[in-house]
Amino acid sequence: MTGLADNIAAVRERMARAVAGAGRSPESVRLVAVAKRHPASAVREAHALGLRAFGENYAQELVAKAAEIGPLPSIEWHMIGHLQTNKARHVAPVIAMVHTLDSAHVAAELGKRAAKLGRTIGALIEVNVAADSAKSGCVPDELPAIIDAVRATQSLALRGLMTMPPYSDDAEASRPFFARLRELQARHGGPSVLPELSMGMSHDLEAAIAEGATIVRIGTAIFGERGVR
Ligand SMILES: *Cc1c(COP(=O)(O)O)cnc(C)c1O
Repeated sequence: MTGLADNIAAVRERMARAVAGAGRSPESVRLVAVAKRHPASAVREAHALGLRAFGENYAQELVAKAAEIGPLPSIEWHMIGHLQTNKARHVAPVIAMVHTLDSAHVAAELGKRAAKLGRTIGALIEVNVAADSAKSGCVPDELPAIIDAVRATQSLALRGLMTMPPYSDDAEASRPFFARLRELQARHGGPSVLPELSMGMSHDLEAAIAEGATIVRIGTAIFGERGVR
C-alpha cells in the first residue's frame, strides 16, 4: 500500500492535469477528502499533509470524528451524505458546508439550527440527475422551490449543486450526468447564483473537471479502501 502522502500527491496531479486539459485555472477546483469509515488518525495525518476539507456521509460519524479531532487550523467538515431532518441539529454546530440538501423542509430545519448558533452554512442542493429511484437528491423539477427555500434562509449561503451519478466502472459513463448538472446550473441562474458544482469521485474526477466541477469528493484514492461499517 502506498502512503497517504503519495496518494494525495497522485490525486493532486490528476486534478492538475484535468484542470489544464480543460483550460481552467488550478484554483478553480477544490478537493474534499472523503474520510468515511476511516479513523480520526487518518484525517489528522491528511491535515498535517495540507488537506483542509473533509467529507463524511453519516451525521453521527461526522460529529464523533470532528469531536475526536478537535480544532485544527482551517479544518472544514462537509456533510456529503443524505441529511435526515432529525440529524440537522447534530451537524449544524460542526459543518462548513452541506452538499446534500434535497428538500425545502430539510433546508429550513438546518437553517433554523444554524441561526440559533449564529452560524452560516454553505449549501449545495443535491440533484438526482439520473432520476434513479435508489438515490437521494431532488428531481430537476424541484430545484426552483428548493433554491427559493435556501435563499430565504439567512443562515444558509446558497453555493451550488451536487450530484452523484450511478456507479459505473467506466468513468466516461458519468460524463452525461455531470454535463446535465452544469446545464441545470445554467438554467437556474448560472455561476453567479450557483457558483459551485460538487461532482466527481476517485474514479471519475477527470470527467467531472472536464464538465465544470469546482469541488471533487475523493475518498478511496486518498485514504484507500474502506472497511465495512
Ligand atoms: C463515498 C463518497 C465519495 C467518495 O467516493 P470514492 O469513490 O471513495 O472517491 C464521494 N461522494 C459521496 C457522496 C460519497 O458517498
